[in-house]
Amino acid sequence: MKNRELMAAVVAMAEFASPAKAKEALVHFTVDELTRSAVASSMNIDNTPPAHIVGNIHRLIGDVLEPARLRFGAPIYVNSGYRCPQLNRAVGGVARSYHLQGRAADFTTGTVDGNRRLWRILCDLPHVELIWEGGGAWIHVAY
Ligand SMILES: [Zn+2]
Repeated sequence: MKNRELMAAVVAMAEFASPAKAKEALVHFTVDELTRSAVASSMNIDNTPPAHIVGNIHRLIGDVLEPARLRFGAPIYVNSGYRCPQLNRAVGGVARSYHLQGRAADFTTGTVDGNRRLWRILCDLPHVELIWEGGGAWIHVAY
């Protein structure tokens, strides 16, 4: 969490200094961010994605998350991305979840109002699932 807050601050400062350059230079999402999991760490589960799934994660970032982030104009925090079968069972994910294929992410802007705005942006981006979760606490998207 500390790292994410620090990164959000760095992004905010960089965009303040030079919005155009910040958009070119900074990668807002990484495969690592889409695979790290506190549950996996605490249960000693290796959530490293196989090679064919890394491609799916890159497509999810490039076609959905990054365009959404750029239109939203502020940080988006990923709570859950790829889940290996063991992790998916541990978090109670459905058996055929797109998370298992690296094709889904759960994320939040930090506020329900922000998530509402992000939802409208996501409606115009490619997806196969878009779910308003936890009363707007987070959004699930699959692509
Ligand atoms: Zn999800």
